[in-house]
Amino acid sequence: MAEDLIKKADGTNFGTTMAGNFIHDIIDEDIKNQKYHREIRTRFPPEPNGYLHIGHCKSICLNAGTALKYGGVFNLRYDDTNPITEDEEFVGNIEKDVQWLGFQWDNLLFASDYFDKMYECAEKLIRDGNAYISAETADEIKAGRGTLTQPGTNSPYRDRPWEESLQIFHDMRDGKYADGEVCLRAKIDMASPNINMRDPVIYRVLHASHHNTGDKWCVYPMYDYAHPIEDAIEGITHSICTLEFEDHRPLYNWVLEKLEWPEPPQQIEFAKLGLTNTIMSKRNIKRLVNEGIIESWDDPRLCTIAGMRRRGYTPEALRAFCESVGVAKAENKVDYDQLEYFVREDLKNKVENRMVVLDPLKVVIDNYPEGKSEMCTLENAADPEKGTREVSFSRELWIEKEDFMEVPAKKYFRMFPGNEVRLKGAYFVTCTDVVKDAEGNVVEIHCTYDPDTKSGTPGADSRKVKGTIHWVDAATCVDIPVRNYTYLALPDETGYNHFDPNSRQDKAAKAEPSLKDAKAGDRFQFFRNGYYITDTVLSKEGEPVFNQTVGLKSSYKK
Ligand code: ATP
Ligand code: MG
Repeated sequence: MAEDLIKKADGTNFGTTMAGNFIHDIIDEDIKNQKYHREIRTRFPPEPNGYLHIGHCKSICLNAGTALKYGGVFNLRYDDTNPITEDEEFVGNIEKDVQWLGFQWDNLLFASDYFDKMYECAEKLIRDGNAYISAETADEIKAGRGTLTQPGTNSPYRDRPWEESLQIFHDMRDGKYADGEVCLRAKIDMASPNINMRDPVIYRVLHASHHNTGDKWCVYPMYDYAHPIEDAIEGITHSICTLEFEDHRPLYNWVLEKLEWPEPPQQIEFAKLGLTNTIMSKRNIKRLVNEGIIESWDDPRLCTIAGMRRRGYTPEALRAFCESVGVAKAENKVDYDQLEYFVREDLKNKVENRMVVLDPLKVVIDNYPEGKSEMCTLENAADPEKGTREVSFSRELWIEKEDFMEVPAKKYFRMFPGNEVRLKGAYFVTCTDVVKDAEGNVVEIHCTYDPDTKSGTPGADSRKVKGTIHWVDAATCVDIPVRNYTYLALPDETGYNHFDPNSRQDKAAKAEPSLKDAKAGDRFQFFRNGYYITDTVLSKEGEPVFNQTVGLKSSYKK
């Protein structure tokens, strides 16, 4: 539908809006009621403590797509209020990933730039009697918080005069307290059924350097306090986050209400995207990397944006996938096949075929003259517009091991003794003999060919054969390293220990000579084997390494 297409700044269509979801219904209503006297503003607020993954991808599509749809503003904001877990390494990579996905922020912001404002806001809360300094230990605070069935107990510091709290708050900032010695608590309701409202800690002493503010601060705000202020400062209208923050919404609203913020942003939660057969959370990916189980955050098996890009997934495919998943309130795990379906759909008409034999078996055509060679014409793609190319054919070829069976299974129409098959773009051949090694493995097969059956010549198909197999010419082919992949993990991810050590299969493949010239990022369909991309990290000039992006077959039903 045309109205589902969003125009990018350059006028081109995007095709991804996350259109027609319940969040847009809320926004439509807010616009109708003139709830905000400013344009619709959204943000994507990653914590720079890892690389972005497919879940973040959905959040980006939703937030950026929403701003595009309503002609509003989309901010990319680093949620960098916790100095302990953050790292400069991640900062630039997050920007790269968002842009690669096809989105451009209106403002690039850092929550840590608001530390002064957050501090001032805390002073206001103290002065208004809405926050107090507590000298309880973390354990005491925890014990006093009560349980789901029991109310909490009031802190002995709850009625401390605000002047005293304010003085200590300043002393905290001035470095007069050690980590954990004192903290600032919001004064809300220790009997609230929502534990988040039982006088949560909103500021803590933490003598730690921050990647942005260095050693300026030794007090840092807690997430639940900082986030609403970040949103409010930027004039965000709809602060979209995932469901686990639903119970934090009353605190979000409380903070902005006590700060008397005009036209405060509203938080709306949606269900996290989950995916089968992968390991998604940053915490678990970090473990895989740090423990050397996988090499890096951009391992092609990971569903990090960096990994999926290296694997050969396209931004178009990822956006279409996110669109297909939709935005809902109920958590669900999406089948990994659904993601692969969109990758395949997108690549289908974009790339050319090549013949590559992944697990080679030698074929000798006994009646083909030794020393002779000829060219065969192959179509580059199903689309005739993509043209043709010539590949050489001679007496010795390579075919896939699995295209031969000495004793054929039922309905096996490929090569077996006595059976005639077509070599793609070349001749009909019939297997006449096999050569085995000492262990009885077939190491070479012998065939005869019919010179009157060359593809494209008159009468070439005068008899029917049931199998067509691909091949490469042993005389001219090149050796290329290929990496095939299966799922990173078993379907029920509970942690990094579900990693499947066999999820990468390295192949020493034989390929058409032109593949030697493939440049990093070039894509092909390896005939019958799937879509492949030249690896951007491991490939060298004239020595490309190929990643399997996705196989050809799918069990996914749209
Ligand atoms: P993880 O739990 O994987 O470590 P996170 O939630 O800690 O991720 P943040 O950097 O805090 O990562 O998230 C940035 C934004 O992306 C947040 O608004 C968060 O709600 C959203 N987000 C994170 N994971 C998902 C997901 N699986 N599906 C949709 N949105 C997500
Ligand atoms: Mg987080």
